[in-house]
This record gives sequence, structure tokens and C-alpha cells, in this order.
Amino acid sequence: MTGTHARRQGGGTNATDERRRMSVPRLSRGSRLVVAVAALLLFSSVARAQGEPPREEGKFHKPELVELVKLDPTIKLDIRYATPNNFLGRPVYAEARAFLQKPAAKALVRVSRKLREQGYGLVVFDGYRPWSVTKVFWDATPEDKKVFVADPAKGSRHNRGCAVDLSLYDLKTGKEVEMTGGYDEMTERSHINYKGGTDGQRRLRDLLRAAMEAEGFQVYEPEWWHYDYKDWKRYPILNISFDEIGRKQ
Ligand SMILES: [Zn+2]
Repeated sequence: MTGTHARRQGGGTNATDERRRMSVPRLSRGSRLVVAVAALLLFSSVARAQGEPPREEGKFHKPELVELVKLDPTIKLDIRYATPNNFLGRPVYAEARAFLQKPAAKALVRVSRKLREQGYGLVVFDGYRPWSVTKVFWDATPEDKKVFVADPAKGSRHNRGCAVDLSLYDLKTGKEVEMTGGYDEMTERSHINYKGGTDGQRRLRDLLRAAMEAEGFQVYEPEWWHYDYKDWKRYPILNISFDEIGRKQ
């Protein structure tokens, strides 16, 4: 018999006796109902704070998420969040797909076209991300690494379908190029102005940046792979799964 079990057995009788001895005020049926309703309201507001996206005021564009590979089949996908090969070590997406709001997707296709003339294709790690996944990332990330994840209380630009994580692949070999650091690496090597690495790695990182900026994307400086489309503020935070896109938006 374990100690815990023994304590529980003995304690049960004592606790009952104690309750009998104590003069607990009895609540009327009406008061009990009020207490129950108050507890329920408190519980639901806590649940909302934890499980639902922030509510934003104002006017937004109607979301129109489109699948990148349908617009440009030369865009390669390496959706790490649909595999265990990501910083969480487990898949958080049911499907390896990537979407952006239509104007951002079209701008990305223009980037892809220009880079192909220079011998490179785009490889996309992530686009639209449901808000619930941003929440999972935030909760799983230690305090000193929070610069690498978005606060779910504000939502991520990925949640608006206006951010893309990407790199380049070599058109001749079909292989992803080497940048100054790996995707989702939470170190200084990820910074867009990191001076280390090889000349070749920095050249490719800067080539991607110039091509993206020319089409209205802005890099998130701590992450060489993350770009926000200029109109991100005009789109609402979304929390629909990939298979709901086109049906629920
Ligand atoms: Zn990102």
C-alpha cells in the first residue's frame, strides 16, 4: 500500500468529522443558483481568453486565401509544421499546404518569377497559420525566446494570411540553399543583418530580401525567412483550418 493511499483512507474519516463540527453557513437554493451562474460566467470568460482570438474593432478586407502552388507550381513546399521536423518536435498541421491572401500571393508569384531568371526558386515553409497554432507556439516557447513567436493576445501576421516564411532553392539541383542559419533557429544567426556565415550564404539571404521588398514584403529582422505583406493590417485574424478555407472564410 502506498503512503498516499494510507493518508487518503485515514484522512477521509477525519475530514468528514471536521465538516460536521464546523458550522458551514447553508445557502438557500436561490443563492446557490447565483453562485453557480457566477462560476459558469467566470469559467467561460477564462476559456474565451485562452481559446479564442482577440476581437478587433474596425473594417477589414474580406479574406480571400489562395493556395500558393495553384498560382505558381514552381513554388516548392517544405511545410515543417505538418511534420515532426520543427521546433516543437511534433506536427501541428494536418495538411502540408500553404495559403496567402490573394494580393500577397500574387506579389509572391512576381517574386518567384524574377528569382527564376537568376536561377532560384522559392521554397515556402509556412503561410497562413490558424490562430490556435500561434497559441500553441507561444505556450511552448520559453520567455527568453519569445521574440521568435507571436503573442496570441495580438495575433500573428500569419493569422491574417499576410506573412510568409520562405527560402530559396537552386533551380539546377532542386535543393534548398544554405542561408546563414536554419529555418526557425532561435539564435542570432537568424537576424537579417547577421554578419557571420559565408559570403555565399549572406548573398542569397540578401538576394531573397531584395526580391521580396521590391514586391511589397517587409522582412521581420530577427528572422531572415519571415516576411509581412504591406497590407497585413487590413485583414482580420483567422482561426479556420486549411480544409475549411474556401468554405468558411
Ligand atoms: Zn513567420
